[in-house]
Amino acid sequence: MKADATPRRNLFHFTRLPRPLVDRAGGIYLWDSTGRRYIDGSSSAVNVNIGHGNRVVIDAMKRQMDRVSFAYPIHFENEPANDLASKLAARLPEGLERIYFVSGGSEAVEAAIKLARQWAVATGQEKRWKVIGRMPSYHGITMGALEPTGDDVLTKVFEPMSRPMPLIPAPFVHRDRDNLSLEERGLKYADMLDAKIIEEGADSVLAFIMEPIGGAATAALVPPDSYFSRIREICDRHGILLIHDEVMTGVGRTGKFLGGDHWNCRPDIVVLSKGLSSGYAPLGAIAAPERIVGPVIDMGGFLHGHTYGGNPVSCAAGLAVLQEIDRLHLIDNAVAMGEMLKGELEKLSQRFPFVADVRGKGLLLGAEIYADPIAKTPLPREVNANVRLIDLAFERGLIVYSRRVRGGPESDNFMVCPPLIVSRAEIAEIMAILSDTLEALAGELGLPVNR
Ligand code: PLP
Repeated sequence: MKADATPRRNLFHFTRLPRPLVDRAGGIYLWDSTGRRYIDGSSSAVNVNIGHGNRVVIDAMKRQMDRVSFAYPIHFENEPANDLASKLAARLPEGLERIYFVSGGSEAVEAAIKLARQWAVATGQEKRWKVIGRMPSYHGITMGALEPTGDDVLTKVFEPMSRPMPLIPAPFVHRDRDNLSLEERGLKYADMLDAKIIEEGADSVLAFIMEPIGGAATAALVPPDSYFSRIREICDRHGILLIHDEVMTGVGRTGKFLGGDHWNCRPDIVVLSKGLSSGYAPLGAIAAPERIVGPVIDMGGFLHGHTYGGNPVSCAAGLAVLQEIDRLHLIDNAVAMGEMLKGELEKLSQRFPFVADVRGKGLLLGAEIYADPIAKTPLPREVNANVRLIDLAFERGLIVYSRRVRGGPESDNFMVCPPLIVSRAEIAEIMAILSDTLEALAGELGLPVNR
């Protein structure tokens, strides 16, 4: 039978939910084909860090396409990939000087895990294969990236076909009811890694993977300072690799180049994507030291590679994005605007007491929605507060990220993460719509508002 040529009949997406047709974008705004304007309050998928329609990036990509759009890494090296690798290495923690490019975040997570495993085999540690993750967490949607991801909704159905990895609780310290200080709680959660490694058998554990500051799964959850150094110490003690998934937090989003830079972290492998090309082209990367990469290459080569890995046009986009981040001082802007936005979100939680636990760094900010914020009681699952929040905001021309926490203590949360170019006036515009959205949500769900 012939395919139906009606628009949208053949393309399928996550659900049957229709979405407007996008027409154009510029700065922090997108327009649909009817001319409606939307503020990109989530930088799309928390990736369009430098905003839409940046001419410098578009022109750099065009110039690269005029020279060579594609050359296969097995046949040729290309200049943008070489240059981008050098520029990245110069900004990463010391020693993370070997860079490998892929096309996205899930691919990069899998590349990191495979590099770690091959390193273990190359260095006589063949028994090491388990990659411990956290619950909840998100490391990507492909089968390999799902294995250390803590999200039952995404992983359960594929379990018979995969090898789920051990998980430890994410450090939701703000929910704990104990007499410990914040820093003591940080150590308590880090020590859960130690206990898990011992339970699994230390010589079977290959790596621990974590988002230094949480992404979609935990809405910008920031662990206490003590967490980071204790995690490093535990990994060192057991000889396991520490992988930082900086797909969302990397490249300036949190007000430092890496999320882990807030604590001077020394991960063994860093995973990047999203902001690296800021949505202008598919791009992801891993960075690792020569002591890990060298033995793998010498053993016969990294058993990994995608057709589009290190694509010259994607890498040209990445190079221009880094230039724009510097030229426009976007990391400084993320700090300044992040402070303002966080302050505004805190004010919002005074007005709407069901919004609580505002958190995050730079322009990776989030909060939770509770039935009772003191007792941390979640709203019933059936009211779908996270979906309603997205829809009510979208109807008002604002895009936000919202999610039901899956695994661990339940709640609905949301993130406000505009592009790093955002101005004070644009933040005021975002907050006005968000406030109107929460007013509507409160009305629908019978939640209290302080007037
Ligand atoms: N890791 C983290 C922390 C992410 O936030 C994401 C995407 O949201 C991924 C991995 C997967 O990236 P991608 O969607 O590009 O495959």
